[in-house]
Amino acid sequence: MARTIAVANQKGGVGKTTTVINVAAYLADAGRRVLVVDGDPQGNTTTGLGIDKSQIDVSLYEVLVAGVPVQEALLPTSVVGLQLVPGALDLAGAEVELLSAADRLTRLRSVLAPIVSRYDYVLVDCPPSLGVLTMNALVAADSVMIPLQCEFFALEGLAQLLSTIEAVRERMNPELKLEGVVLTMYDGRTNLAHQVADEVRSHFRGRVFGTVIPRTVRLSEAPSYGQPILRYDPRSKAAEVYGALAREVLGDGA
Ligand code: ATP
Ligand code: MG
Repeated sequence: MARTIAVANQKGGVGKTTTVINVAAYLADAGRRVLVVDGDPQGNTTTGLGIDKSQIDVSLYEVLVAGVPVQEALLPTSVVGLQLVPGALDLAGAEVELLSAADRLTRLRSVLAPIVSRYDYVLVDCPPSLGVLTMNALVAADSVMIPLQCEFFALEGLAQLLSTIEAVRERMNPELKLEGVVLTMYDGRTNLAHQVADEVRSHFRGRVFGTVIPRTVRLSEAPSYGQPILRYDPRSKAAEVYGALAREVLGDGA
């Protein structure tokens, strides 16, 4: 049975997409069958996995809004065992077009249902908002992973994210768990990074991944080559840490 993980934080640029791409790649590298769903109109996950957005026939948009079967959207990637449901700019319209639909928050769960059993892990990348697309991801998920950038405003907005998760749990998805908080873009040379990490660890006791993702230029370069770090620079520190994070995800998955 697949485990579906939503990677969410309404704060922009905190490492959601980088985490989805690289954890997914290492889960696939470990022999797991992995599906990545690009739930962000920006489509950065799609580009970062080497797919040219202008060449996409069917994206998550057509699947969510036009009733096209999800099977028609599935694309292979350069990593064996890793498939993608691509995102596209049209998805921005889905936010609005779904508003009047009674099932607007459960669409993603319904459309994925026919294929989830083919995978061990389904990772859903969310946009930087708490709108309909992120809500769909939370409703479809078994757990939420929250990337958190180690900077001053990191905790701002977190209360709102947590109360959204709680609301989804109460109304639509009682089994939704907190997979964990991932500290990203950590710069160990600054006191601030240490302080933020300490604060997050005391706030989310036992719910913070042991692996901390440092700020490294290799991670910012890899997407422009359409490659996960596993392909772009497998011997880098960045590769080591995302490999370790994927092992943590595997470890508590049973
Ligand atoms: P958005 O909210 O816009 O979807 P996001 O949360 O998905 O953003 P990313 O796209 O993963 O964040 O990261 C934001 C930027 O920072 C990207 O240019 C990415 O390449 C870069 N980046 C991510 N993680 C790291 C890191 N550990 N070190 C250096 N650069 C990073
Ligand atoms: Mg993103």
